[in-house]
Amino acid sequence: MLEEKRITDRISYIVSGEAPLSAEVGVIRGNLFLWLFDVGNGDETLKAIQNINGGRNIVLSHFHKDHVANMNYMKYQKVYASPYTCKHLKLESDYMGEFNIEDGVKIRIFDLPSSHAKGCVAMEIDGTYCFVGDAIYSASKDGKPFYNAVVLKAEINVLKSIRSKYLLISHSDPFMRPKDEVIKELEEIYSHRDPHDPSIFNFDER
Ligand SMILES: [Zn+2]
Repeated sequence: MLEEKRITDRISYIVSGEAPLSAEVGVIRGNLFLWLFDVGNGDETLKAIQNINGGRNIVLSHFHKDHVANMNYMKYQKVYASPYTCKHLKLESDYMGEFNIEDGVKIRIFDLPSSHAKGCVAMEIDGTYCFVGDAIYSASKDGKPFYNAVVLKAEINVLKSIRSKYLLISHSDPFMRPKDEVIKELEEIYSHRDPHDPSIFNFDER
């Protein structure tokens, strides 16, 4: 079973798994619900989730397998995911691009533009910590990583507009990073754009 690491009394995450590849699972202990950000992939992650009690609400960052495969085995009350993710996984969600709720902590779920995948969703807690999944990562064209310049600019603007000081980033070591530091890196990548090409290929991968 994978370890659960504490961030605050209310916020923690289940660490990532290697075989099979599984993203971190964000865990928020609300007054009424247990909120999960992604559900990971494979038995080890599933066991760690099932070890935590509470009526579950599930937020899905995007449709990639390492973030969502355990949905097949999950009991839950509600799921919050983009239409693209829902279509891909054959799920029903009444999430419409933005959702706010107070459940002992202030939770805000919102769309985050991303080159990495269609339909990325982020979750901010108490205006301080923001789970972003894989949204800050590039996509890949013929094995070469790239960002879409327009989407990257939109993503930078959304990240600047949110209050959170920290981003919680899937597959990242450290998992939690200062937002300003990440924005600086994305702006550096954006500065490499070519006005005649919507894709940015020439940047240093972190
Ligand atoms: Zn992904």
